[in-house]
Amino acid sequence: MSSRVGIIGGGLTGLTAAYRLAKKGFSVSVFEEAKEPGGLASSIDLGNVSLERFYHHIFTSDQHLLDLCRELGLEDLVEWFEPKNAIYIDNHLFPFTSPMDLIRFTPISLTSRVRTGLLTLTSRFIRDYVSLESQTARDWLMKRAGRDSYHKIWEPLLASKFDEDADLVSATWIWNKFKLRGASRGKNISKEKLGYMRGGFAQLITGLIQGISEAGGTIRPGCRISGIRRLQDGRLSLDGFPEEAFDKVLFTGSPQQLAALEAELPAEYRKGLTALKAKGNICMTLELDRSLSHFYWITVAQRDIPFVLIIEHTNLVGLDDYASHIVYLSRYVDHQDGLFKKSDREIESIFMDGLTRVFPGFNKEWIKRISLARALYAQPVITRHYSRLIPPVKTPVDGLYLASMAQIYPEDRGMNYAVRLGLSASDEIMRDL
Ligand SMILES: Cc1cc2nc3c(=O)[nH]c(=O)nc-3n(C[C@H](O)[C@H](O)[C@H](O)COP(=O)(O)OP(=O)(O)OC[C@H]3O[C@@H](n4cnc5c(N)ncnc54)[C@H](O)[C@@H]3O)c2cc1C
Repeated sequence: MSSRVGIIGGGLTGLTAAYRLAKKGFSVSVFEEAKEPGGLASSIDLGNVSLERFYHHIFTSDQHLLDLCRELGLEDLVEWFEPKNAIYIDNHLFPFTSPMDLIRFTPISLTSRVRTGLLTLTSRFIRDYVSLESQTARDWLMKRAGRDSYHKIWEPLLASKFDEDADLVSATWIWNKFKLRGASRGKNISKEKLGYMRGGFAQLITGLIQGISEAGGTIRPGCRISGIRRLQDGRLSLDGFPEEAFDKVLFTGSPQQLAALEAELPAEYRKGLTALKAKGNICMTLELDRSLSHFYWITVAQRDIPFVLIIEHTNLVGLDDYASHIVYLSRYVDHQDGLFKKSDREIESIFMDGLTRVFPGFNKEWIKRISLARALYAQPVITRHYSRLIPPVKTPVDGLYLASMAQIYPEDRGMNYAVRLGLSASDEIMRDL
């Protein structure tokens, strides 16, 4: 009989690992607490297309994801677009797409503009990030881009992404952001390219689910696992499914969620998992009868606005497949924060007031539909010397493995790295079987 692997979490990491293991002949079961698999990359149905609950695009350097798309026969659906970006600061919208836009960016001095431009463009050539690990993003940006650039652009940005943890964020995190966006510009630095799967990334999730089922694996949505137990024969069982025994179990939720499970985790290990910090996300999707602007990505660098991003999806991919203009409003927030605890209606009202500040002509009557998504675990906080804090894939519990966004480093979390992690975790499990 083939070895049995239980996978907790049906996001992209768990599904990729399950797909790889099932294709290699292992017996795989995926347990997902939500009603549908997909995790942060799950979607809502808009009729003829799906739309991600949280905005998603990909970069030209996302090789693991592109390879998976090819394997699933989805590569022809990936299309590349040139985004138009802007920054909202000092109550104004400033275009922020090309190097010329930076030169015209008057809220900071000319010297700071030049230094900021050089920093963002040259970051992709920094290979040795180890020296950045000991510095905070704050200190590195102040030193390299100038004080006014830091206070005007980066400080509000870091604060809106990481809240009260902003000053703890490592220089490695911001360096990697510059690097990724720089690499997506290729040789022509004035043109960035972002990718999207025509019809929605839900097709990637469906493709994986289909591949897993065809290879004999099972996916069980609506199954929250609260504990992992050791059986007398040494194998593992999952609470709620005592009749099933697994040779190996892979957990793909957050480290904090693993620490909360009833399992034979050593106290020190559990402490290390709980010490890792993360932010939640609140994301509102608006289906509008008209466009807000011609920008795809507006970074809101003003702390009195309740969201950090205004993303007009249909300004990137075009309107052809959509019955409405799609706009996301996104805010990263601690899940203990009061905002996270507010009702959908309260958040709606706060966000609408913010949107009216950015676009004074905006009228609620333009809205055809509003949806709100919340994720408790959306963004690991990459602190200084993060490489020392990352838990390994193999946990101290024999037969139990962890593959979570918190282990993506020095890159920041993203679908490409979820695929990479799912593949490397399944390789490690196969080596041990
Ligand atoms: C706002 C936002 C925007 C993003 N934009 C982009 C983008 O533009 N491009 C990009 O590439 N990436 C983007 N990402 C990141 C991308 O979505 C993630 O990196 C990726 O989907 C993570 O997959 P995962 O499987 O590792 O984690 P998750 O998707 O979090 O999956 C983990 C799963 O485990 C389940 N689970 C946890 N505990 C249990 C339990 N005890 N029992 C059962 N199930 C459990 C959860 O329900 C969840 O479904 C974005 C993320 C967010 C939040």
